[in-house]
Amino acid sequence: RVLLEVKDLKAVVAESRQEILRGINLTVYEGEVHAVMGKNGSGKSTLSKVLVGHPDYEVTGGSVIFKGENLLEMEPEERSHAGIFMSFQTPVEIPGVSNFDFLNMSYNARRKKRGLPELPPLEFYSYVSPKAAAINMDLRFLDRNVNEGFSGGEKKRNEILQLAVLEADLAILDEIDSGLDVDALQDVAKAVNGLLTPNNSVLIITHYQRLLDYIKPSYVHIMEDGTIVRTGDVSLAKQLEKEGYRAFSIS
Ligand code: ADP
Ligand code: MG
Ligand code: MG
Repeated sequence: RVLLEVKDLKAVVAESRQEILRGINLTVYEGEVHAVMGKNGSGKSTLSKVLVGHPDYEVTGGSVIFKGENLLEMEPEERSHAGIFMSFQTPVEIPGVSNFDFLNMSYNARRKKRGLPELPPLEFYSYVSPKAAAINMDLRFLDRNVNEGFSGGEKKRNEILQLAVLEADLAILDEIDSGLDVDALQDVAKAVNGLLTPNNSVLIITHYQRLLDYIKPSYVHIMEDGTIVRTGDVSLAKQLEKEGYRAFSIS
């Protein structure tokens, strides 16, 4: 089944009206992993932010259907409740709020939307601990404040834990590989792979090919200047590594 269908999506920066997305087409089926690659400034982060409804951007054309519904008509929070999760290039720190409480609150908000009773802390603990263990995350991290003093790798892994807890249908991972050493990269990749099911999908946004050594995409898309200029399989990423983005340039 089709999970996400993006058609001729165009978007501008709300304030300056500068056009960033110039007609994106992208279809994601359940169970697929799509990698979106492209050099800096090609519009990758803008695409992910537009999909989650970031207020800095305004959609000026095209359509986005998510699970059969018009995504563009939903508020950012509704999109999250509908099953879209996005990791940010720089995860926010939330001083004074423990990771455990934050996860419990987010999970309960989701349950409430689905008409389910809230899980009290003790039961939530039983739910979250195996998920943390599955991604090699020390349970001590649950007691720390959200992202406060976390290393780059720990922040990324924490986002994967959020994703695991929320059981999103579509995860948009924007440069989860940035700033990670090879060990942390492998941990994060393993965590992502552990979450893949035939029913959910992942959009991996990355500048570099090396993450795709560990997470196998069904498709690789190359973005340039706000459009997808090439789509292929994982060999496209290999070719890109050898020849550079210039080889794919349309400009
Ligand atoms: P990428 O993630 O591929 O590096 P971005 O989506 O971050 O690219 O940016 C694409 C282009 O849009 C860049 O030229 C960037 O400067 C511009 N841009 C993105 N967001 C904004 C914004 N909020 N205000 C002004 N320019 C922006
Ligand atoms: Mg960038
Ligand atoms: Mg970016």
